[in-house]
Amino acid sequence: MTDADVVIVGAGPTGLMLAAELRLAGLGTLVLEQRPQPREVPRANGFGGQIAELLRYRGLLDRVVAAGAGPVQRAPRLPFGEVQLDFSRLADPPMWALSLPQPRLERVLGEHAVGLGAEVLRGHEVVAVSQDDSAAVADVRGPDGLYRVNASYLVGCDGARSRVRDLAGIAFPGTTYPEVNRLGQGTLAGDVTVLGNGDIDVPGLGPVRRGFTRTGRGVFALGVNAGRVMIQTTEDEATAIDDDAPMSLAEFQGSIRRVLGAELPLDEVTRLSRYGFEARQAERYRDGRILVAGDAAHQFPATGIGINTGMMDAVNLAWKLAAAVHGWAPPGLLGTYHDERHFAGARGMLQSQAQVALRRGQDPAADALRELFLELMAYEQPLRHMGELIAGSDFRYPLPDSGNHPLAGAFAPDLLLRAEDGEATSVAELMRAARPVFLDLAGRGDLLEAARDWEGRVDLHTARTDDRPADALLIRPDAYIAWAATAGEPADADVPALQEALFRWFGAPLDTTRWPAASAAA
Ligand SMILES: Cc1cc2nc3c(=O)[nH]c(=O)nc-3n(C[C@H](O)[C@H](O)[C@H](O)COP(=O)(O)OP(=O)(O)OC[C@H]3O[C@@H](n4cnc5c(N)ncnc54)[C@H](O)[C@@H]3O)c2cc1C
Repeated sequence: MTDADVVIVGAGPTGLMLAAELRLAGLGTLVLEQRPQPREVPRANGFGGQIAELLRYRGLLDRVVAAGAGPVQRAPRLPFGEVQLDFSRLADPPMWALSLPQPRLERVLGEHAVGLGAEVLRGHEVVAVSQDDSAAVADVRGPDGLYRVNASYLVGCDGARSRVRDLAGIAFPGTTYPEVNRLGQGTLAGDVTVLGNGDIDVPGLGPVRRGFTRTGRGVFALGVNAGRVMIQTTEDEATAIDDDAPMSLAEFQGSIRRVLGAELPLDEVTRLSRYGFEARQAERYRDGRILVAGDAAHQFPATGIGINTGMMDAVNLAWKLAAAVHGWAPPGLLGTYHDERHFAGARGMLQSQAQVALRRGQDPAADALRELFLELMAYEQPLRHMGELIAGSDFRYPLPDSGNHPLAGAFAPDLLLRAEDGEATSVAELMRAARPVFLDLAGRGDLLEAARDWEGRVDLHTARTDDRPADALLIRPDAYIAWAATAGEPADADVPALQEALFRWFGAPLDTTRWPAASAAA
């Protein structure tokens, strides 16, 4: 007896995205969130990377933009450690970015998930989790007291201090950096003035430049936009920080005074928050029927990539959980969640750890590293590589037996397509329903015929596109390419390879008449 197919602990961006994707895959989904009300303390002020494309494929990007994100744009510049990466020199900067306060993103995702039929219970804290061969169990403290929920699977999307992860005995090794960052936005008060170049002039101190200033007591970061200043201080402090605990204006101004060595009067201050930096990654993303995703699985020592990585975890996991619950998951499918997303998390860890070295180093050797790094970023290829790494789009999943096609394991490009009836469509449109897609781009009747045995579980499409990258694509619901047919490859090699990929990702064929072995196994 289960209360839901999947219980999700935590209604942050990861948990809410997972809930929506699970509903698209037809699973009964319950989200348990300890806070009685949606989050109001601001964290991220924006996000971007691969998830922006995925949201567009799902038809959700317009809703996110309508929530006040401003235009989705290719980020012209990004801070990397204390170094500014200037992507405006590239014709097509690799990182899509949106500026949207996290509470508003969560509102859009919450409405979307609930609209699709997910149940979200706020004020319900998970206090214990357990599992046996048939179910995962959560003990919950709700407004009316303790109760118990059973599900086929339980996913901890409960943030960096994940109780689910700890209760499941999943280690979270890594490093805590002894520093605290405090940030806020406001208008300048007193006699402080903004100079023509965006620097500010502070009475008793003199000019303070836009960007990062190292003062010997910490780092002072300044940005000026539409009459408001954005300020962040960084100080070495060994105190453990709860990112969600509120910060007072007095604490913020005290930190500015210590770092800058002068008072900086501010009015209309908003977005007061503080955070520490830790680099941690869960050793395993799955323990039986209990899984972790988002910050519960990885905590990066740089902001700007947490939402992308967490929501992409959710998209990777949802269809695999659905396959397991619906009973057609091929052996090992759920295990690929750890393999693929731990790999993706490690890529994020690589670049965010590198940022720590560029940011924290305070000796001539570190100066030399920063200078050399900037020299390399003058070249197009390394700059593009860094952008793709930050966007989380630099890698292909290392899929077993996917052949040598360069698209296998990659995020499906949004090809513009002409369907058989002449209608214009696109890969993005085909991925809206979050279902597996077989896309024949070259009138390959042999491949289409082979895929037909999976029809019903896999959507079959024939279309044409200019400059086709392959004869056919097999695309997973998370929009990653499971298999691609090299143009002109002989059918006697392609057809068995496609069938193997269909078996590997989408289980035994629905039409078993031509598959006696699959029929016996089913
Ligand atoms: C100051 C700051 C700035 C940031 N800026 C950016 C940025 O610009 N871009 C970016 O991409 N990322 C940024 N991040 C990181 C980003 O906020 C996180 O990566 C993101 O919130 C992770 O989402 P999540 O859903 O995995 O976890 P969370 O957002 O932490 O959500 C976890 C949820 O689980 C709930 N929960 C916890 N325990 C329980 C329990 N036992 N029972 C029930 N519910 C529980 C919590 O209440 C919470 O709602 C920033 C973070 C900070 C602190």
